[in-house]
Amino acid sequence: MPKKTWETEINTCAKCGKCRSVCPVFLETGNESMVARGRISLAEALRDGEIFHTERLRDYLLSCKKCLRCSSICPAGVDYDLIIQTMLDDLAERIGIWLIPRILFRLFLPRRWLFDLLLKAASAFQRLVPLKRHGTMRHLPFMFLKRKWIPALAKKSVLNKYKHREVILPNPSSRKKKIQNYPSAQSSSFFKEERGDYHMRVGFYIGCLINYVYTDIADAVVEVLQNLGVEVVIPSQQVCCGIPASSLGDRTTARKLAEVNKKAFEEAHVDFIVTACATCGRTLKRDYPRILGDDCTMTFTGKLYDISEFIEKYFTYETKPLNTKITYHDPCHLSWGQGITGQPRDILRRTGIFQEMEDPERCCGGGGVFNILHYDLSMKIGEHKARSIEKSGTEAVATGCPGCQLQIEDLLASRGSGIRCIHTIQVLRDAMRTI
Ligand code: SF4
Ligand code: SF4
Repeated sequence: MPKKTWETEINTCAKCGKCRSVCPVFLETGNESMVARGRISLAEALRDGEIFHTERLRDYLLSCKKCLRCSSICPAGVDYDLIIQTMLDDLAERIGIWLIPRILFRLFLPRRWLFDLLLKAASAFQRLVPLKRHGTMRHLPFMFLKRKWIPALAKKSVLNKYKHREVILPNPSSRKKKIQNYPSAQSSSFFKEERGDYHMRVGFYIGCLINYVYTDIADAVVEVLQNLGVEVVIPSQQVCCGIPASSLGDRTTARKLAEVNKKAFEEAHVDFIVTACATCGRTLKRDYPRILGDDCTMTFTGKLYDISEFIEKYFTYETKPLNTKITYHDPCHLSWGQGITGQPRDILRRTGIFQEMEDPERCCGGGGVFNILHYDLSMKIGEHKARSIEKSGTEAVATGCPGCQLQIEDLLASRGSGIRCIHTIQVLRDAMRTI
């Protein structure tokens, strides 16, 4: 098959405009330059020398959430992600990257100790601001003006917490019981024999939001995997997946971070790798082969699973359902980015009183760079999500992405709602504790 390039993909677009019917940004703005078809026309004009690399072009590119919703319905199968990423990379090369993100990406992200220090300072600063309802607070100066609700930074990051115990052994009472449910387990090369028992050795890729903010999600992943008889490895050398850098076209940093992560997990000699962050999962599965070349597939990205995907594929388990009404929000990077929609629902159906909300796959409006640059627009997109959640009559909304969790908590808190937002794995952990 001929290699895809941004040119082949530009030529594939039939200009049918179907992407306009689903793009969350276009549905709010009605602006043709803020949807896949319009940006592909901009790419064409750029290729033909009709327009140039400018800040205005960057604005249009950064108004894309990279949610991949458009790709999911594109009848021509255009690889829109490849087009926009190529444009962002070229733009950064020709007109540079803004100073503050450049410092953050090049200086802090590859050096975890320095990034830790920066966040420790931020954590000390946030303590000056009084805590608001159930642990959420407003604490970024520029967000003060916008009244954004942000959860508190954790006192200790996950990687620091597990620094001296990178390998966490399975819970002995649960070991063989769970794995033996799998007839293929004993014949698979992924399973190792140890003291007559079979178990998997699984690497856990944490991701920044879970590492620094939602640390309980990591604890839940570890506890559930231990209960399923899995040996969990948390390589301490792992760093940010690189999505903030590649979102601004910083190819150099994105490559550097990808290389560090690949090495960290290769050296850990794990059978599988799991993550509980939909955005990190999408980045590692889809972007790393492009950044590092296909060699990383065998030893790294090919072993990667979202936590719900992993559990539903390899295990059966017992839970006593919780008496909680729960609904589910599909993170774009899990559903459109990785095709995972059924597995989290299967977990929730077994663990709570599950009820679907209206348009569960509709974008919540979150997304790192997009949320910062287009905060009002992201909240406008999220309004539909907040209304669907409230209408469902739920007590809690589960999701599979800490980025969506951040956005949904902000949306619900700004509406004065008492509905909690949690990760699917936290629900499973709680339900496992009841047996
Ligand atoms: S749906 Fe696909 S083919 Fe149609 S305009 Fe959008 S990107 Fe082009
Ligand atoms: S990736 Fe998402 S935000 Fe960007 S054009 Fe496609 S649907 Fe719109």
